[in-house]
Amino acid sequence: MLGFPKPYSDELLYSTVARAGVHDGETSPKQLLDQVFENRKIIATVDLPSHVQSLAQQYPSNSGLNTSLLIARHTLWPIYAPFLPPERIKKLRNWMAEQSQGAAHLASGIAASRVKAKTELFACRPCLAEQRLKYGECYWHRLWQVPLVRMCPKHGALSRSNIELDGEHRHAFIPVESADLFQDVLVKEQDEVFAKQCAQLLLSNCEGISFAQWSLFYKQFAVSLNYLDGSRIDHSKIHDTVVTFWGKQWLEDVRILPSRIETSWLKSLFRKHRKSFSFAEHIVAIVALSDGRLSISEAINQASSLIISAAETKNQSAQKHDVEPVAPPSPDQLQWKTLLKSYSPKAARQIYKALYARLYRNNYEWLMEIDKSFHTETTLKNHRVDWSKRDRKIARELRRVCKALTENLNAPHLSRTFLIHQLNQRATVEKNLSRLPRCAMLLTLYSESTTEYQARRLTRAYLSMRNKHREIKRWSLLREAGLSDERMTELITALLKDILSE
Ligand SMILES: [Zn+2]
Repeated sequence: MLGFPKPYSDELLYSTVARAGVHDGETSPKQLLDQVFENRKIIATVDLPSHVQSLAQQYPSNSGLNTSLLIARHTLWPIYAPFLPPERIKKLRNWMAEQSQGAAHLASGIAASRVKAKTELFACRPCLAEQRLKYGECYWHRLWQVPLVRMCPKHGALSRSNIELDGEHRHAFIPVESADLFQDVLVKEQDEVFAKQCAQLLLSNCEGISFAQWSLFYKQFAVSLNYLDGSRIDHSKIHDTVVTFWGKQWLEDVRILPSRIETSWLKSLFRKHRKSFSFAEHIVAIVALSDGRLSISEAINQASSLIISAAETKNQSAQKHDVEPVAPPSPDQLQWKTLLKSYSPKAARQIYKALYARLYRNNYEWLMEIDKSFHTETTLKNHRVDWSKRDRKIARELRRVCKALTENLNAPHLSRTFLIHQLNQRATVEKNLSRLPRCAMLLTLYSESTTEYQARRLTRAYLSMRNKHREIKRWSLLREAGLSDERMTELITALLKDILSE
């Protein structure tokens, strides 16, 4: 089809096809299917459509609008992909690229999930007005279609439309301009929190996190926030915190109120994962238990970077065997080795200075290696480290440091490394983070993403200019905040616009 429209930001492919029909003056849905897909049996799917490859072929190859990009940015893929194991991800993507016949819905777990897809299309009226102003036409935004989302984070309640997704409209791609919108749906303040998390999730490009990684993530998460009863997970405390945070009624409304029975989804979430959980369940648990300090995207980043320890340990011991000295030892080396059986490397160095100097000159690498191995051996023998105790101690220091820093608008970028470097035992933390789950979780909670850092700079600049009664222009605000258009993330560009319009 000639001149097939490009999708707008976050536009559903369903919507792009619908606009193609409008642009082309194509009124019969069957003819539209023929023209775009050369197939009249296509079902107009909103969330995880199939035949995406046919759509990608409508664009020139240098446009960058390939199958993967269309799936990632113009379907509800990011809502499902981070929570499915790698083998299912691959199948799902293939089905979406080609033909699916409902297989995508089975693979994604939607069919079996407590969280069902919406049965009608929804829209945000103020967003539609903005789109009309900006582009001269309107489109279906994908956030409106995310299951359980009842609010546009920017404007408020969504409106239900008369477009039902099964039944008579099965094969029709209907443009938003042809839809009738009913009254706004009723929303609560929890809906805003939930919608914001979903909006973030749509920007995530992480996928295929294994069950083992999610299991470990939740274990560390519970430990770091002290949801423990002795050394076991305190399921009852977790349950109460989640229900108090979201409210029983809201959880009932969206049909994911966890029960108290052994097989409740919330209890299973903190056990070894054997099946995937929906995005909504992850959001509800993570946001409630961290009291809003850990977002779903941060949790995803953390879970995806977890290395499953058995494999890690194997790798490390394999590496250690490679560093044995190859040449026969010199008399100096033999003497040093004997000395180390009675003295620590430091003591031996102080007593036998000349010997040490010779070895330092002639056998530097060997010397460092043997000193290190004797040093670690003594540490292991004499002072077995209580990692759990150390974790708690450093975590207390870390929490104090982070609290002071986060209250300071002028603090530099609170990256993970920066936070670690504020600690007395920074080398220990850097080298042994996997043994310090509390510290690891605190670092995730408190470290700032680039967007968060830029937001803080922007706010700081704005407040400082306002206090000095300076006129706030876009360029002057950017200069004061040390930001530029090239470096700003998408969210910051939007925030800047909001600040300037006030
Ligand atoms: Zn809106």
